[in-house]
Amino acid sequence: MNKLNILTTGLMLLSATSAIADNHSLAKLTDLAGASGFEKSVRDAVKQQWQQSMSRITVDGMGNLIGQSKGNQKGPNILLMAHMDEVGYMIESITSDGFIKVIPLGGIPSSVIFAQRWMISTPNGPILAYSGMDSTHLIDETKKNQLPSGTAIFLDIGAETKEQVETKFNVRPGLQVTPASQFSPLSENRFLAKALDDRLGLALIGDVLDSIKNQNRPNQLYAAATVQEEVGLRGASTVYQSTHPDITINVEVGIADDYPALIAKRKGRIALGKGPTLFVYDRSMIPHQELLSWILDLAKRNNIQVQLESEIGYGQDGSKVQGSGSGVPSINIGVPIRYAHQQAGVFDKRDYEQAVKLVSLIVTHLNQQAVEQIKAG
Ligand SMILES: [Zn+2]
Repeated sequence: MNKLNILTTGLMLLSATSAIADNHSLAKLTDLAGASGFEKSVRDAVKQQWQQSMSRITVDGMGNLIGQSKGNQKGPNILLMAHMDEVGYMIESITSDGFIKVIPLGGIPSSVIFAQRWMISTPNGPILAYSGMDSTHLIDETKKNQLPSGTAIFLDIGAETKEQVETKFNVRPGLQVTPASQFSPLSENRFLAKALDDRLGLALIGDVLDSIKNQNRPNQLYAAATVQEEVGLRGASTVYQSTHPDITINVEVGIADDYPALIAKRKGRIALGKGPTLFVYDRSMIPHQELLSWILDLAKRNNIQVQLESEIGYGQDGSKVQGSGSGVPSINIGVPIRYAHQQAGVFDKRDYEQAVKLVSLIVTHLNQQAVEQIKAG
């Protein structure tokens, strides 16, 4: 599949149904392949978008993109952060009969990995692959509902021998594998796409930077697009060094559970269309309480509906900066999506737009006095 074709189709479909596409980087960002450790194409796209509003853009030794905003060079340092990588696989080995074995980059449960289309990024461009599953005709009645273990996954690219895989398809160990899944509008407000975690966060930061470009800000604004979040928050561990933030706002996805019951017990706590989520707890971080209260108050005064989210099986980059230097007041803000860490997820553009509004308000209101007040508790 050609990447350019994917992109054009996605954007055309989008603009046919929604204004979100007119200026929108999200369709393009989600269609890019960028598993953990393979963030270059995403970084190039984000860099291009930041060029408008950032005066200094650098890449650190981990591969994180760091931008410093134009304009005001006084006041507290405010950091906006989101990660560039998505969950996927890396090619581990090739079998003698031409199948491809892979190792996971990030957490994808075995229930969603078989019988799917994938894309392998080769030096000659992307090629299509399929994660085969036993045909139902081959499985005993008693084992019909059984799932193979996640490590059993293999990819079929239509090759007949190991040699064909290597020479004809130009595939070798170490290449990235990402879902073959195009950005697609479902309705006026809802969209289906891969890698919403966390390209939604990156697109949001880009939109916030554009929306406040010509406004006076009482702070110095930094943005970080990080690498390797999905394999253990690795990129974010160096972000403090180049930004020295007084406050960190990490932008992520929230985990919506507003669909018919499957396995999970939790239902209906976080929903699409009810606004951005403010994380009050996750496995990696408890937010700074005064920062949380200050944002809640700001949202209320501006009639922005928010949801309070707690996730026991969730970690995020903000925690790495929170624990850097002598500690940084930090919070994680999410745009809720359904079906995170799967072939594709669904989000509602109204949540996204409200999140852009909220984060824009935060960065235009965080002045020295507010930051001192927050820090003093
Ligand atoms: Zn994420």
